[in-house]
Amino acid sequence: MDCIFCKIATKEIKSSIVYEDEFVLAFNDINPQAPIHIVVIPKEHIATLNDVIDFGIYEKIFKAINKIVKELKIDKDGYRVVANCNRNGGQTVFHIHFHILAGRYMEWPPG
Ligand code: 5GP
Ligand code: ZN
Repeated sequence: MDCIFCKIATKEIKSSIVYEDEFVLAFNDINPQAPIHIVVIPKEHIATLNDVIDFGIYEKIFKAINKIVKELKIDKDGYRVVANCNRNGGQTVFHIHFHILAGRYMEWPPG
């Protein structure tokens, strides 16, 4: 499977890992859009949000996000969680992922 996030999950490609458990990996984004920009992925390959079959994966991902934001102490000041889907969502890597953006005020609406 020629998927960059699968290769990050198996450590074939190096990343700056901030959290890992049996199902989920989180690492620093290579092109950060905020002082803190972390990408959270399931280790299992799922191309887009439309392809999720077992919605239990969201529980695992959001439990990991909850731990990460508390560990980094960004929970109180706040943060944004973003998932992009397909062309209009601006998805560029077709392995589902959630961005955690923090460390500055996030404008609304997004661009
Ligand atoms: P998307 O645009 O699909 O929502 O987000 C993909 C994200 O993955 C982008 O923010 C991009 O900077 C990040 N990204 C792409 N390739 C790599 C990589 O090889 N390593 C890391 N750490 N991040 C990557
Ligand atoms: Zn993948």
